[in-house]
Amino acid sequence: MATLEVRIFGDPVLRQKAHEVEDFDGRLAALAGDMFDTMRARHGVGIAANQVGVLKRLFTWEVEAGDPDEEGGTSDVVGGAVVNPTLLEASEDIDEDDEGCLSFPGLFYPVKRPLQVHVAYQDLGGEHHEVELEGFLARVWLHEMDHLNGILFIDHLAKHDRGEAMRRIREYRIEQGLDDDPGPRPGGLLLGRGR
Ligand code: ZN
Repeated sequence: MATLEVRIFGDPVLRQKAHEVEDFDGRLAALAGDMFDTMRARHGVGIAANQVGVLKRLFTWEVEAGDPDEEGGTSDVVGGAVVNPTLLEASEDIDEDDEGCLSFPGLFYPVKRPLQVHVAYQDLGGEHHEVELEGFLARVWLHEMDHLNGILFIDHLAKHDRGEAMRRIREYRIEQGLDDDPGPRPGGLLLGRGR
């Protein structure tokens, strides 16, 4: 099991467009495996290659399907690796629900997405598939497909929520030592100076 560093908002790779995958080789499968491990370790339902610093059109996803509370219901886990996805059709019906992102730890905001989508994609072996998705699954795939085009969920937010999300992630980056604190700070702790 290998988990990869997840890039946090502010990292330029999240704003770059990923490249079409042409080689369906062992390296691609290994990357997808590491992305699965990374996604599970962080309790995500999806992760795009950009988020681990790789500009390939690849994402992994995994969600619980079925309803364990229903009689005879099971909590099966479904998921997979999706390569070179293309949105063929999206419904005019819109669904709004809270959304988060591993590149924005701890932040959740309501995002409007098409309720149903029709997507073409390839698997890790290069085989072509088409799938129709609805509701939460459509949301997960659209979120990850956005990543491959350098689009982030905050881009879909109303101005106020977007401003708040960006402020909170700036604070997070400083807390995590990813950025220096631009403001006045006591004791120079972030630079590790002695007192
Ligand atoms: Zn995301």
